[in-house]
Amino acid sequence: MQPLPWEAARPGLDAGDLAPEALLRMAREHLEREEPTLGALQQLLPEGGGAWARAAHRRLRAGERGGLLGLPFVVKDNFALAGHPMGCGSRILEGYRPPFTATVVGRLLEAGAVPIASARMDEFAMGSSGEYCAGGATRNPWDPSRVPGGSSSGPAVAVAADYVPFALGSDTGGSVRLPAGFCGVSGLRPTFGVLSRWGIAAMASSLDQAGPIARSAVLLAEALHAMAGRDSLDILSVDLPRRDALKDLGPARLRGLRVGLPKEYLGPGVHPGIRERVQEAMSSLAGEGADIVELSLPSTEFSIETYYLLCTSEVSSNMSRYDGMRFGRRVGGEGPRSVAAHTRDAGFGAEVKRRILLGSFCLSRGYYDAFYLRAQKARTLIRQDFDRALRIVDVLAGPISPTPPFRLGEKTRDPLEMYLADIFTVGPALAGLPCVSLPAGLADGLPVGLQFIARSLEDVFLLELAHAFQQITSHHKLRPGGAS
Ligand code: GLN
Repeated sequence: MQPLPWEAARPGLDAGDLAPEALLRMAREHLEREEPTLGALQQLLPEGGGAWARAAHRRLRAGERGGLLGLPFVVKDNFALAGHPMGCGSRILEGYRPPFTATVVGRLLEAGAVPIASARMDEFAMGSSGEYCAGGATRNPWDPSRVPGGSSSGPAVAVAADYVPFALGSDTGGSVRLPAGFCGVSGLRPTFGVLSRWGIAAMASSLDQAGPIARSAVLLAEALHAMAGRDSLDILSVDLPRRDALKDLGPARLRGLRVGLPKEYLGPGVHPGIRERVQEAMSSLAGEGADIVELSLPSTEFSIETYYLLCTSEVSSNMSRYDGMRFGRRVGGEGPRSVAAHTRDAGFGAEVKRRILLGSFCLSRGYYDAFYLRAQKARTLIRQDFDRALRIVDVLAGPISPTPPFRLGEKTRDPLEMYLADIFTVGPALAGLPCVSLPAGLADGLPVGLQFIARSLEDVFLLELAHAFQQITSHHKLRPGGAS
């Protein structure tokens, strides 16, 4: 695999040595070679995004510099881009083209980034492996017999395989961080509300958050800054209190920093190679003067159950809009109820159906108190648990997943096995906290992701820490096949 010189793209564009159109051509040639193996993309934009590249070129010629201007990106197939098909990895949306653009996508376009394609995902973002996609499973560039992680499988692979320097994904319970971890790239889930949800197909609305994927924390910060901020179309959106770009703070950022390592995050179920990489990362931080504090997050034990009860409940409500009347596909029947039933039966995959059933059950009379209400109370305990820990330390650390990327087909037969891959990602999502997944080296030749979790609205601090970590380590430069 020949990596494109994305690290050289920004200086090249700014110096006038590289045109956005040329970058786009290189990206196209590269991805056409890799796509038959990896299957990361859903649909290329008309001319592969050429019109956007030309617009960026005009702005560069007029003297604009820096940021995302002229950099190509792909966007997960659950974000609206006016006029472009939006399929959410599902058959039910076949033929649907939204007439509007998601706020965060619109802000990337305003920043001059160049969209080239929509990227594959687990159907309606339900999944942890990238296998539940109507268009076909995506494969991990480190080992194509393995999954890339989900549900933002395509965006993570597009970055890991160097199609593009950054991608836009969404994270409800781990969907940016898990695939970033499995593919050896960096992914950010911002504080809930920092990125507008408007124009993203709703999965579980109290948890859905957009998030960028890139090779480095610096580019994550650029993308965050381009997209962040209140949006009148999302009532829960908030402003990011700090918008300054990452300064070259270097390892000095780490001196005296208190890093909490919950003992539940390195328990017996964690692959030994992953445990070692996380411990090495802690040693590197300690070497720069950080204090590593062992503590406990007892709520980890019930976070999977809590997440899957709340998530499926919200899913069962959000999926009701796909009734064969308003969007995409319609499968005939007599009368609206029958059309909805036939359309859903033909249009939804097994995992989506499972969640609608589970969620409807949780919300039904007689079970509501025992399941939904109880899960809401558990969510409060989880939030309090994180708050308590983050009063003692500045940031929490641990692995992003208990295992390295698994083989295709390994967990599709047992949904509970698949859900367990999310053990470390759902907690901070339930608590609404900003968290990032960073490459931390390899175990059995496969990428290991390291997670940092910060206090609410400390997204910029989190990225400074991520940047400092990437200055004292070089894991983020590793590429599939050993190139760096
Ligand atoms: N894997 C989790 C799930 O299946 C998270 C998905 C997501 O974040 N969209 O629900």
